[in-house]
Amino acid sequence: MTDSPSNEVVVPDELAHNVVITNLAKVIDPLYNWTRRNSIWPMVFGLACCAIEMICTAASRFDLARFGMEVFRATPRQSDLMIVSGTVTKKMIPTIVRLYNQMPEPRYVMAMGACASGGGPFKEGYNVVDGVDKFLPVDVYVPGCPPTPQALINGLIALQEKIDQQSILTAPWYRKDDTMIDEVQIPVLGPDLVDVRQAELIRAEAAKAEAAKAETAVTEAEVEAA
Ligand code: SF4
Repeated sequence: MTDSPSNEVVVPDELAHNVVITNLAKVIDPLYNWTRRNSIWPMVFGLACCAIEMICTAASRFDLARFGMEVFRATPRQSDLMIVSGTVTKKMIPTIVRLYNQMPEPRYVMAMGACASGGGPFKEGYNVVDGVDKFLPVDVYVPGCPPTPQALINGLIALQEKIDQQSILTAPWYRKDDTMIDEVQIPVLGPDLVDVRQAELIRAEAAKAEAAKAETAVTEAEVEAA
């Protein structure tokens, strides 16, 4: 076996049926992804009506064991997949983010249903976050209100297809400069939900409002004095 001038590997005729030319990634990636895609363990975690459909999906009729996903784990430490099934309220989102931070890499997030994807029928509600993707990186969105078990299974298959595209050579969770290892900052619930990632902007806007208030007070005092 020698290199030709064009750098192509030339296989002698007598060895042509015995040699496979490949590279490590082409061998390892399918194996690595095949093991992961068929053993996704979702977290036991439900928020509202969509969770009932998720529970149905986990029942024997739909047989999630076909996909290696029947082991719903009761702890984020052993879960690969967070299925956000239901309405994400402002009260709940700090807990959801905390659970996500406790999951080990590689981890995936699925927004199940209209509420988790974008607020759904409660989008304008004072207490509702209009989409869990405002805080977490969502891998798959499953439409519906609620999505049927079949739709959820379709979403799980879409996740498997996404996993198939990943390579062990570029997976961020094995790299020293892994940017995904950073925890998502947990929002703070006060009189309203505060996204601490926006702290600078919030401070600037608050300072602007204070300045405007002070200016109005001075103007009023001047008018009174006149
Ligand atoms: S999307 Fe529909 S079924 Fe699902 S939690 Fe929202 S209101 Fe309930």
